[in-house]
Amino acid sequence: MHEFRYCRGRLVCEGTDLEMLARRYGTPLYVYSQATLASHCRRLMAALHPLDTLLCYAMKANSNLAVLSRLARLGSGFDTVSAGELYRALRAGGKASRCVFAGVGKTEAEIRYALRLGILAFHVESVAELRRIHAVAATLRRRAPVALRVNPDVVAGGHAKITTGTYENKFGIPWERALAIYEAAAKLSWIETVGVQMHIGSQITTVAPFAQAVRRLLPLVRALRDRFRIRYFSIGGGIGIVYRPALESGSPDWWRPGGARRAGRTALPLTIELYARTLVPLLRPLGMRILLEPGRFIVGNAGVLLTRVEYLKHLGRKNYVIVDAAMNDLLRPAFYDSYHQIVPLRERMPGRGTAVDVVGPVCESGDFLAKDRILPELQEGDHLAVMSAGAYGFTMASNYNSRPRPAEVLVHGKRSLLVRRRETFADLVRGERK
Ligand SMILES: *Cc1c(COP(=O)(O)O)cnc(C)c1O
Repeated sequence: MHEFRYCRGRLVCEGTDLEMLARRYGTPLYVYSQATLASHCRRLMAALHPLDTLLCYAMKANSNLAVLSRLARLGSGFDTVSAGELYRALRAGGKASRCVFAGVGKTEAEIRYALRLGILAFHVESVAELRRIHAVAATLRRRAPVALRVNPDVVAGGHAKITTGTYENKFGIPWERALAIYEAAAKLSWIETVGVQMHIGSQITTVAPFAQAVRRLLPLVRALRDRFRIRYFSIGGGIGIVYRPALESGSPDWWRPGGARRAGRTALPLTIELYARTLVPLLRPLGMRILLEPGRFIVGNAGVLLTRVEYLKHLGRKNYVIVDAAMNDLLRPAFYDSYHQIVPLRERMPGRGTAVDVVGPVCESGDFLAKDRILPELQEGDHLAVMSAGAYGFTMASNYNSRPRPAEVLVHGKRSLLVRRRETFADLVRGERK
């Protein structure tokens, strides 16, 4: 569910007109809805309230300081994957004691930085990393809190590039060996084992993989709790969202933002209520704190990318809509073949549409936002919204083709705040010399 809908013929975010934002701040432009962020956060916490939970928002999904600070105020901690992310979390007002540090390749400098900050825990991905953390902790004479990331060898995730919980991926330690590795860790004097972690993939749209992974790890978690007195079990992130609204076939409103008319309904077999209903009975008997690391679920549908139609072009039988946003601004279609709904900012009367490819100006055939998409008649200068672009959108943006990265705006009701200015040409060469 989200706060983007048509109101008197114009697409609005909460109480703010999006075309007005496009004109004021230019395009391409990321726009985030504060109310949507907050409601996703609250819904998740409410659904899991029978458990003692700590939400650690996976900030690689969207790490704008304004987004982080709003989430920190709601009580969220952060799941980080680099020292840079830890730095951002603190700059946004997050507490180090609510930050966990994940990732398979932590450098010595990153480990030292995190130890000095006093983070909640390192989520350790290998025995070699455990040894390295121990060595760094010894030199700082500070015990390092760790949780091992256990790979449950369960298939999940919406795409090969976002499946993480099988042995075909680089993540975690094999679950069959976990107990032995915890035993070894317990003998390291500068290591304190505080938890256990899993994360099986991203954009998971059924509850079964979560349940299967939790069930597989439960005996291990119980044993770790009893033998090493670990305090928490992190069940990771990965909750999927609706990218492609389920419209009845032949529906005349194929271009409407998903959820606009069907508020409260979801096209996914996975709802947060089902997630909670399935997992709470499994987890509650542990009597442990449960960490959650959602990224996409919190921010995905809370953001859109606004873009302007630059040219219309016909090549053979193909129609192209060339817009001013490109793969460097939103990589997901090119990288994951992902679907993003695209809608005009001015509501159109129901009617026939034309199949078009929506493409950007970057010199790559892979530079597209949508392929063979039915869109209403468009003209140069029209504005479009690429929906559900709040997660893995700006954070994956680059300066490829020397394109300044877009501005970001946070909307709250009728107010809008520029939370990152558009990059300038000077930004493009900052740090370089000739
Ligand atoms: C990316 C990641 C997440 C968040 O995944 P989402 O699909 O965005 O919820 C959580 N935990 C870890 C360890 C991750 O790498």
